[in-house]
Amino acid sequence: MQEMVKSTTSLTFYGGVDEIGGNKILLQDRGTRVFFDFGMSFGQKKQFYSPPFLSPKSEVSLQELGILPKIEGLYKFDKAPPQADAVFISHGHLDHTAYLSFIKREIPVYCGETTRTILQTLGEVRRQDLEFSVKDISFQAFRTGDKIRVGTIEVEPVHVDHSVPGAYGFVIHTSNGSVVYTGDFRDHGAKPGMTQDFVEAAKTAEPVAVVTEATNMTGASVSNEVEVQAKLNSIISQANGVVLAEFGYSDVDRLNSFFSIAKKNGRCLAVSLRQAKLLDALRSDKHLAVPDLSDPNLMVFRKSKQRYERWERALMERFDGEDKVFDVFEASKRQCRLVLALSFHDFEELVALEPEAGSCYVLSASEPFNEEMELDFERLVNWLRHYGLPQYHVHVSGHMMPLQLKAALKAINSKKLFPVHTEQADLFAGFMRDLKSQTIPTQKNKEYLL
Ligand SMILES: [Zn+2]
Ligand SMILES: [Zn+2]
Repeated sequence: MQEMVKSTTSLTFYGGVDEIGGNKILLQDRGTRVFFDFGMSFGQKKQFYSPPFLSPKSEVSLQELGILPKIEGLYKFDKAPPQADAVFISHGHLDHTAYLSFIKREIPVYCGETTRTILQTLGEVRRQDLEFSVKDISFQAFRTGDKIRVGTIEVEPVHVDHSVPGAYGFVIHTSNGSVVYTGDFRDHGAKPGMTQDFVEAAKTAEPVAVVTEATNMTGASVSNEVEVQAKLNSIISQANGVVLAEFGYSDVDRLNSFFSIAKKNGRCLAVSLRQAKLLDALRSDKHLAVPDLSDPNLMVFRKSKQRYERWERALMERFDGEDKVFDVFEASKRQCRLVLALSFHDFEELVALEPEAGSCYVLSASEPFNEEMELDFERLVNWLRHYGLPQYHVHVSGHMMPLQLKAALKAINSKKLFPVHTEQADLFAGFMRDLKSQTIPTQKNKEYLL
């Protein structure tokens, strides 16, 4: 029997609907099947699990609970031949990438070079677990300007600015017109020009549909990089004790701003071994401005552990005999000379650190709901109260502000809009109702013909 090949083009959303993150978008075009992002949904996972004691044991549990969609011919544990031609990844955040873990290794994964570096480094520094492993993935790196043909479609990645370096949006040329996917983007960050380039390319393509992030529909707080520098400076210049800094592991923009303000105020920025490892890996990327580990104002903090991993020992040995890597007891003696990058998950260190009066904590995760981890505000505040540490929130969103998003979508002027990466799709539809583009109330697992 001859298999019928659909002559249509369609979009199916397996994640990122009515939630922030977890994007998994299937585009089908005349038998070509390509996924855009394949992330983990923190929200769905939290409904059932509370790590480390209650964690998923296998993909069977994840599928049973609807956290990992049931799709044939896609996963490593499925014996059927591959039924996807490629996966394209917009950027390195886990809510867009983590479930690559399950993808059949013969399916090529396309992403930017920086994203590949971030994911491979994360693969080295994180303990391999069920939900994050990039082992044996055949990454194919792209850059802006590339055009990648997969079956009947052609994918044009275009850089955008986001709270992780190396983020892209896509213009996808199909047999029924162009489709645009924004990924996560903003135009108030360090490089708004990249987002403008993307909007321009999207507009030129005269797309039939735009799949757009709509994260910031409520509680949008307007700020920008220049303002963040000024705010950090006012905190760091007045603090007497240690300044504890919490920011995303891969948020290089924020690392740069903490670093430059620390330096300006005669302090050192001490990063974790993990961050040091990533900085080292990203140094080879000529397009990125990343501080050099040999800079005397950049130090490495090794948290207290029984046993260090091999990569940690290798990194420490590299700086043997130099005053570069230090522990919590050393940090305790130099409090007023430090900005210490310390994640909430490492707050056990505070016991030995004994923060002096006049110390403070600066939360600068790009979102309250971080795309790399989840913050637990109640416990966080309990720790801060115990040590008398006031909490500052210096925040620049990784996502477009509502009015800017509307202006961009108006300029792109597609027939249809599919909002994703938001809990406020209805609000988005209302706000966009005077555009010529029609907002489609996106539902999960439903196929939309274009
Ligand atoms: Zn995201
Ligand atoms: Zn993101």
